[in-house]
Amino acid sequence: MRVLVTGGAGFIGSNLVDALMEQGHQVTVVDDLSVGQRANIAHHLASERFRLVRGSILDRDVLEPLIRQCDLLFHLAAVVGVKYIVEDPRHGILVNVRGTENVLELAARHTVRTVIASSSEVYGKSTAVPLREENDRLLGPTTASRWSYAESKAIDEYIALAYAREGLPVTIVRYFNAYGPRLDPRGYGSVIARFITQATRGEPLTVYDDGEQTRCFTYVADTVQGTILAGTVEQAAGQVLNIGADREVSINELATLVKELAGSSSQITHVSSSTAFGPNFEETRRRVPDVARAREVLGFVARTPLEDGLQRTLDWFREHKPDDINTTERFS
Ligand code: UDP
Repeated sequence: MRVLVTGGAGFIGSNLVDALMEQGHQVTVVDDLSVGQRANIAHHLASERFRLVRGSILDRDVLEPLIRQCDLLFHLAAVVGVKYIVEDPRHGILVNVRGTENVLELAARHTVRTVIASSSEVYGKSTAVPLREENDRLLGPTTASRWSYAESKAIDEYIALAYAREGLPVTIVRYFNAYGPRLDPRGYGSVIARFITQATRGEPLTVYDDGEQTRCFTYVADTVQGTILAGTVEQAAGQVLNIGADREVSINELATLVKELAGSSSQITHVSSSTAFGPNFEETRRRVPDVARAREVLGFVARTPLEDGLQRTLDWFREHKPDDINTTERFS
């Protein structure tokens, strides 16, 4: 198939591209390389089945021919990561809403099978764990800019579902804390990247608040598998699906695990999240997916144990020494 991946030079996107190339597809990536990196897909550049187009999803002239010429579209380009959103909410909203509107409008015009990457963040502060796709969402006030990400992704979902009613075969995947090789070493978008970088440098691991907040960390190979199934299983069209592991881990446990696996002598320190993100910051206390629907519709289960995934991520960070970035300076 001719497959288009927006954001294909990013963390999840480039891992998705690897899997699609492995399956023998013709893959085009459109990425503005703002966060995504050429290095993530450089190993495909020599292949005649692969093409990188540097461009923005805000640019309809770039998108139109690419979408017209593809059979399957994975839309992953977005401004992602709490830190980016809190620092520049306007840009995040613009890219995530207008960009997705562009992608969906063109996909609908050419009736292209589409997968839209959404996020578990759309559940907000909901405490009704495990979080089912049909659950109520619970978001904080507009003055807490973190929630603009959840809102922008929710608008993307509404638009996608509206097009689905008009006949567009589109599936929405809600990712739960993906991690793995090619995470941004600066830690934007992932506590795991931050902890690994800190642990390997002997810097303190910065656990926010009491560290009893929980997440279900999902190894990126699993995230990718769920994503490909979402784009290829026919019954998935028109559905919203959680894509995540269901092992709930506190940030305290995660810090201990990373420290142990890295064989690090780093301290584990507790810092206030409002010191890192400002006074109006709000946190999601527990985030656990209900995985039943993805299992029923896609036959998908995230199988990689956290210890294995962390070890592989750690190995990758060691092999690909990130730039010399002081995580403490950049994030506190
Ligand atoms: N976190 C932390 N220390 C850090 C970065 C993040 O304790 O240096 C916590 C954060 O408060 C959240 C969890 O780790 O509870 C996951 O954060 P991440 O940014 O990876 O993703 P989120 O699920 O918040 O989008």
